[in-house]
Order: sequence, then C-alpha cells, then structure tokens
Amino acid sequence: MQVEIVTIGNEVLSGRTLDTNFAFLARALEEASVQVGWHTTVSDDAGRIAEGLARALERAEAVVMTGGLGPTPDDVTRSAVAAALQRPLELDESVLASIRERVSRLGRMLPASVESQARVPRGALAWPNRLGTAPGLLIEHHGKPVVLLPGVPNEMESLAREFLVPYLRKKTGRAVESVTLRTYGVFESMLEERIGALPEKWPGATLAYLPGWLGVDLRVTVSGDDAGTVGQVLRRACGELLAVVRGVVYAEGASGMEEAVGELLIRSGQRIAIAESCTGGLLAKRLTDTPGSSRYVERGFVTYSNRSKIELLGVEEAVLEAHGAVSAEVAGQMAIGAAKRAGVEIGVGLTGVAGPDGGSDEKPVGTVFIAVADPAGHALRKLRLIGTRAAIRERSAQAALDLVRRRLAGLPLEPSLDP
Ligand code: AMP
Ligand code: MG
Repeated sequence: MQVEIVTIGNEVLSGRTLDTNFAFLARALEEASVQVGWHTTVSDDAGRIAEGLARALERAEAVVMTGGLGPTPDDVTRSAVAAALQRPLELDESVLASIRERVSRLGRMLPASVESQARVPRGALAWPNRLGTAPGLLIEHHGKPVVLLPGVPNEMESLAREFLVPYLRKKTGRAVESVTLRTYGVFESMLEERIGALPEKWPGATLAYLPGWLGVDLRVTVSGDDAGTVGQVLRRACGELLAVVRGVVYAEGASGMEEAVGELLIRSGQRIAIAESCTGGLLAKRLTDTPGSSRYVERGFVTYSNRSKIELLGVEEAVLEAHGAVSAEVAGQMAIGAAKRAGVEIGVGLTGVAGPDGGSDEKPVGTVFIAVADPAGHALRKLRLIGTRAAIRERSAQAALDLVRRRLAGLPLEPSLDP
C-alpha cells in the first residue's frame, strides 16, 4: 500500500519547527508494511490543505495528515478537510463527553472552544486521545482511508501507535516483523563486505544499513502473509547475521551502549566511577540516562584543569608535565584515581582534544585516550576521532562505554569483526 503523509503547519513550513512528525510516521508506517510514496507539507490554510488532500487522494491509496487540529482559529484542518470531502462537521457526543471528562479531571477552566474539537466530519471514526483533547479521525472516503492526527508530537505518536499502525496492518493483511542489531566500531562498508549476499537467502526479508554517529545499526525486516513463517525467517536471519558480525554487536533492539554496560555491572556486582576531561560530564550523563543506574554509578568527576586532576584524582604533577594532560599515562592515572577516590571496583579515565583548537602535530584534534581500571589492572585505548567538537565528544563517550563493556565482558578491547 502506498501512502502519502501530509504535515500541516505554518511553523513547519517556515523551518522553525523541524518536521519530526513526518520522520516518526514514516518509520511507524514501515512497521505496517506500508510504503510512504509522497510527503507534502502545507500551511495552515484551508485552500492549501484542500489542495494537498486532493492531490494525495489522486495518487496514494491512503492519506495521513497531521497538524492543525487544535481549537484555536489558526487550526483549520478539521473544517478544511470537512469542506474538501463534502462531509459537514457534526457533533460527536462521545468525543464531547471525553473532552468534558478530561477538562474536569484536570480541574482547570479551559476555553469553550476546546469543545469545537468534538465536531468531526460526517462519517468519521474518532480515535480517543489519552494525552490531549483532539481525537485522531479516520474517514473512509470512497474506500480510501484519510487519517487526521493532531500535531503535538507525543499525542500524534501515541495515536499512531495505538490506532493507525494496527489499522493499516489489518488493512494490508501482511505480517511484518523486524529486529535491529546495533554495532559499534567498524565502518558500514566493512559490515557490507562481510555480510555480502546473505540476505538473499532470507525469503521476504530486507536488510537495512543505518549508519549514525555512534555506530551502524543493522535492521532486518521480514514481511509475508503468514505470521508464523515471518517469525521463523526472522529468527533464522538474525542467527545467520549474528554469526558473521557478533564481534561488534552490543545490543539487540533499541537499547544503547550505556544499557549494555549497566547490565554487565549489575551482573558482576561492581560499581563504576568516571573521570572525564574533554567530554565534560557526557559520559556520566550517558551512564545515568538508564533508570536504576544508581545501583552501579557511584560518581563522576569532571576534571577539566590540571589542578582538578591532581586534587580530585591524585594524578601526579610530574606525569602531567612529562606527558601532557592528553596522554595515555594521565588517562590511566585518572581511571585508577577515580576508582580509588570513589571506593569502587571500576574506574574510567577519559582525556582528549575535542577541538577545534588545541591540536598539535603529535596530538591532533580528535586524539583521545581512554582507560578503564579494575581490580585486575587497567586497559587503555588511543583513538583518532574525526568530526566537529560535538561529534568528537559524543564519539569519545561511546568509545569509552564500549571499552568498559569489552573489559567487563572479557572481550578483545579493539572492535573487530574477527574477535
Ligand atoms: P498543531 O496544534 O497541530 O498546530 O500543533 C501543535 C504543536 O505541535 C506545534 O506548535 C508544533 O510545536 C508541533 N508540531 C506541529 N506539527 C509538527 C510536525 N510536523 N513536526 C513536529 N512538531 C510539530
Ligand atoms: Mg499548527
């Protein structure tokens, strides 16, 4: 099924609001085995909305519109669509009841205009919105679904997940399942070379390479008419894929490297302290992004200056002078000092040149040293990262998490497809 997504809003068209609703919807629809054939953005103008809808109905098999369902006069989607489809707005008593119920539950006076959201195009089915007052609306117009969703991202996402995806799935009658393997440390081209034509052996499957700042995700999607077969093919595909890339896979699904590290720390009953320089707390932030991380994160030191490295971590002044703040020796002393001062088993030290200034021939921008100390000693990696200051900082934190993960799991310290 080919779908058109129409996002509506002056703020989107002016570039002030990034069209994240489109990105979310396109990804969600993929799960329903639906192809997004077109994407249009129009302003909050009845004529433009009607024009966008008419064109979408000409070429697509279904239309999903988002934005402009609010109660204020600048939100015109509801009335524009009603007029374009010649379906007058009619009061939907159940929507009105749920709007009133919500208003009284919030204990706030809302303007009477919110009740305008209970007026829906004739024949529309309302999908209740648990996070706001504007319901999602489904209109089957001459056999083609036209779906209206609010523009507020969390409301739109919840309605799409709860109603739109299941509805389209049922309509297409296809079973779709996918799994994502998250890799870190090797280039997309190396993965591609290794995986080669393997996906051709999996009926109904596609393999997507999704490179990002922090690694390459491999997503296998299998679709077919029979859910049982789809599940079987997916399991086999994942097994065969893992067999060739296992050395660089840190997670299955959506979880990040910090969660993989957290699980290993919990399993081994160890706690961690972090000492970081050029990442300025980013590594501690990543580790504490995970709920429940207080079980294993003891503390973090942001030691930007030499003095703080000496005072807080016990780094030796002579070592700083002899090797410089960005050096393997200092990273090692930072890791050992962090663990010792915090009284925990695992310490991490991270120091580097994030740029854009401060590089030298010997230590150019992007030179980063990471050390992980544990009761058995300490592990060290030197990296030469590329990118902007922001990218180097993000990549440093990711590399440090990977080093901790590898050390805890007893894996080789360098990411490699041939562990
Ligand atoms: P609306 O009531 O539909 O005009 O949208 C309410 C709010 O949702 C807007 O102020 C935007 O912040 C946000 N929003 C609307 N459309 C989009 C979109 N396509 N992508 C991301 N955010 C959006
Ligand atoms: Mg708007």
